[in-house]
Amino acid sequence: MTMLMTYAGAGEPEELVTRTGGTPLAPAGTPWPTCAMCEGSMQFLAQIVLDDLGHPTSLVGPRTARTMAIFMCQNDPGMCDEWSPTLGGNRALLFPVADLHPMTPPHEHDEGTLRLGAVNAVTLVSIPGSDYGSARESWGSRSTNGLRDVLGQLGGQADWLQDDETPECPRCTQPMELIAQLEEGPEHSTSMNFGGGGTAFAFACEPCTEAAFLWQC
Ligand SMILES: [Zn+2]
Ligand SMILES: [Zn+2]
Repeated sequence: MTMLMTYAGAGEPEELVTRTGGTPLAPAGTPWPTCAMCEGSMQFLAQIVLDDLGHPTSLVGPRTARTMAIFMCQNDPGMCDEWSPTLGGNRALLFPVADLHPMTPPHEHDEGTLRLGAVNAVTLVSIPGSDYGSARESWGSRSTNGLRDVLGQLGGQADWLQDDETPECPRCTQPMELIAQLEEGPEHSTSMNFGGGGTAFAFACEPCTEAAFLWQC
């Protein structure tokens, strides 16, 4: 089974749902993440409600209700190694679902480098088979859908464009599990920047509360 994230029109910017764009929700006082390369504030890309994956990704105990918030630097696109899971040009953060609040954006920054130009609501669609590429093609070629309406997948098997780059958890050294694969988005003007036609991968080790993000093109 592949769980596609499909485009469901304009979303609510502060809703506790899986979405791309809008405002990240986080525990009170959480600082807006900054880029390790340029030290500027990063752009918020997506919020994933981990319960939407439908099953624990780990066999180590029950899932704690969490969200993942994904950020990437866009202050000087291409210059901060934004693709890398380790160099600090992006961040994936896990938060407990209890007591989330909209994060306050830093004042000094231009909106366009902090937020995407659109909030995209997500409808999850289950497609038989574990091959994301085929699921994306088959759903995206149905009459009223387009390939760009596939926003990605939740869980499942990573569909690498390049080599397998599954990150290791920095604490327990086990391979991390795929939480979401993200496409750039339905509209060019509001899309995420994964190098043009790239695809991104958000991983987590839930028992250790560690997460990593990377992209390939
Ligand atoms: Zn940067
Ligand atoms: Zn771990």
